[in-house]
Amino acid sequence: MENKKEKTFQFVVVGGGIAGVTCVEQLSSQIPSADVALITAGPHIKAVTNYKQVSRTLEEFDVEEQPSSVLEEKFPNLTIIHSAVKSLHTKSHCVETADGRVFGYKKLCICSGARPKLLTQDNPYMLGIRDTDSAQEFQKRLSKAKRIVIVGNGGIALELVYEVEGCEVIWAVKDKAIGNTFFDAGAAQFLIPSLEADKPQAAAPCKRPRFTTEEAAPGGSHIFTADRSSQAYGHGPTDSGSALGPDWHEGIALRGAEQVSHRVSVEYQCEVEKIFTCEELHKSPEQTLRTECGDWPVYVRLTNAQTFGCDFVVSATGVVPNTEPFLQGNTFVVADDGGLQVDDHMMTSEADVYAAGDVCTACWEQSPLWQQMRLWTQARQMGWYAGRCMAAHILSEPVELDFCFELFSHITKFFNYKVVLLGKFNSQGLGPDHELLVRCTKGQEYVKVVLSGGRMVGAVLIGETDLEETFENLILNQMDLTPYGEELLNPDIDIEDYFD
Ligand code: FAD
Repeated sequence: MENKKEKTFQFVVVGGGIAGVTCVEQLSSQIPSADVALITAGPHIKAVTNYKQVSRTLEEFDVEEQPSSVLEEKFPNLTIIHSAVKSLHTKSHCVETADGRVFGYKKLCICSGARPKLLTQDNPYMLGIRDTDSAQEFQKRLSKAKRIVIVGNGGIALELVYEVEGCEVIWAVKDKAIGNTFFDAGAAQFLIPSLEADKPQAAAPCKRPRFTTEEAAPGGSHIFTADRSSQAYGHGPTDSGSALGPDWHEGIALRGAEQVSHRVSVEYQCEVEKIFTCEELHKSPEQTLRTECGDWPVYVRLTNAQTFGCDFVVSATGVVPNTEPFLQGNTFVVADDGGLQVDDHMMTSEADVYAAGDVCTACWEQSPLWQQMRLWTQARQMGWYAGRCMAAHILSEPVELDFCFELFSHITKFFNYKVVLLGKFNSQGLGPDHELLVRCTKGQEYVKVVLSGGRMVGAVLIGETDLEETFENLILNQMDLTPYGEELLNPDIDIEDYFD
């Protein structure tokens, strides 16, 4: 391998997604004279634009797909190689690409992302959404569809069920409530009416005019406390392109063949038991199902004994880190979720190999207020921090774990509501002695704080609450809030003034 090396770079970064591009930018800015290579399978790169630090840990930015030349023009010492990495040889410090070239490295960072976990492989009626191509394929097939089944309960499923119009959606979730990855049942209850109402025409303000919920929450604001027992009210292949950013569906009409807005039926606490095609049904003793369920190209049997015929199935049940080309012949320690384990310097178990973004699993001793989630903010933060660590190690400088890993924070939009998640927003890993405070104004806002030992450790803010900065401070400074009790969420008190 040694004598096949075309060139040896000081730094090689694999993957042109948010993590890889941010890592390259950081390396090139920190050591402008360094020879850096970005090897990526896709034709485009993902760039972070309009970056805005909203508060100490909250950040917002757009993600733009750009030609890689933009990056090369900005950093003269950067070489972009458009090919997939086929194999990695950690002993000889080199990677081999699909087009047969071999490149050496002093330090390598793997940012190859993850791909959708498909319920079955090679089923033409099963779709996973990951990149621009798969989103376009989804849109094309949806335009002719009358009914689809969406399986999964994370962010992608949440977005899809809300965005899809003109097509009946059967949404199969394994939990008791929708959006279990991000919310508790109380927040889910708050959001459900949005699925039953017509979608606003364009990006409308978050306050929605009307609701048709059966279990309508009483109007006005309500404060109530709950202990843990009442928590029930209140979670492809490696040549794929980069994962889409949060606004992936903007500008793509997600419209089916029917003249309806939303038509979503949620099937709770169930998983897919079997998927069979129309032909398979013909041959099986279950033929009677066809008469019962109509004439569809594919059928899904759920574990709740319900069978649905549909045009196609969307598998949105999480992701699998793209590690395959890197594992063979090396001794990486791989985490239970399939990611490459990294320490507090983003280093894998192999010498001089770092990893960042969706492909890695954070295995350092984590702050009690942070957890890894495969989100674009963390891909940016990890890519940036990995670049810093790689440069610091070359320069023999010390580097400490960045402050952004102190507190989990995420801003997003679900069902057209602004959503801010802070710390242990879903009481993740907390013992039985934690307390929840909730304030809910139907159709306007849902505010939940998680308290442990009288201190705020997490929050979910849905709607224009304006509370994110104050709550972030309260979480970071770990002030004892016991004396304030339920007043903490009293809507008649200006909480910002209160803690000034
Ligand atoms: P990716 O963006 O996946 O980039 C990986 C790169 O590696 C790609 O360029 C790929 O071509 C390249 N690559 C892969 N294998 C190889 C190889 N062998 N050789 C060379 N190159 C290779 N996050 C949010 O925070 N909010 C959201 O609302 C949100 N919505 C999403 C909606 C969808 C439909 C999807 C799919 C994801 C969403 N995410 C969201 C998740 C977010 O997009 C990812 O967490 C983030 O993009 C991960 O960035 P990354 O750089 O680690 O990986």
